[in-house]
Amino acid sequence: MPEVTLRLYGYLAKIAGKREISLSFPLLPTVKHLAEHLGIPHIEIDLILINGEEKDFSAIPLHGDRVALYPRWHHLPVSHLQENPPQLAFVVDVNLGQLAKLLRMLGFDTLYNNHYTDRELLEIVHEEKRILLTRDKALLYHQSVKWGHWVMATNPYEQIAEVVDLYNLYDHLFPLTRCLLCNEPLISIDKKSIEPQLPPRVKEWCEEFYLCPTCKRVYWKGSHYDHMMAWIEKLRK
Ligand SMILES: [Zn+2]
Repeated sequence: MPEVTLRLYGYLAKIAGKREISLSFPLLPTVKHLAEHLGIPHIEIDLILINGEEKDFSAIPLHGDRVALYPRWHHLPVSHLQENPPQLAFVVDVNLGQLAKLLRMLGFDTLYNNHYTDRELLEIVHEEKRILLTRDKALLYHQSVKWGHWVMATNPYEQIAEVVDLYNLYDHLFPLTRCLLCNEPLISIDKKSIEPQLPPRVKEWCEEFYLCPTCKRVYWKGSHYDHMMAWIEKLRK
């Protein structure tokens, strides 16, 4: 039976659970199907080499060929196969509520609703050209998904580190600019107008306040903010 050897680079090896693998089929399929056979959504792949030569997803390897798959590191200056996302905006699936909150905490436009159906998610991705972050690989196999990532980590803090690293977001972190509950950009607000509703200690030492125009929640740079900044510093390292 015709056999090919696949070599997986970077986090693709992590997705498939191995770095090198030999596969045989009565009739060898396209590279896209070979990748999906290993559980790797094709949008995670940015470069395909067959015997050292650059190919696309429709290429069909021959018996004895060596196929190398490289991941989509979004901060590489050259993208071989994939279109870059037009904007840094995310939609996350129903299993990633904590990640959504952390993304908003860092200032990223992030849609999340624990009632989204798969169909709604795919519509949002298509219509709003958002990056889909999901724990459900099957969603990434859809033709309409151009930008997305199968989040490997299960712990929310590891998940956010994974996403920040993958999309090289270190220069795009703007904490305390977006409401954690409704994703709305915060606006600066005068202390006097909200003074009666502030806890006494906050009233004493805090001067800068931000308001969510939608849910009216007030934010300030309290101790949670200092913790967050320390955590961001750790993330950068
Ligand atoms: Zn809000």
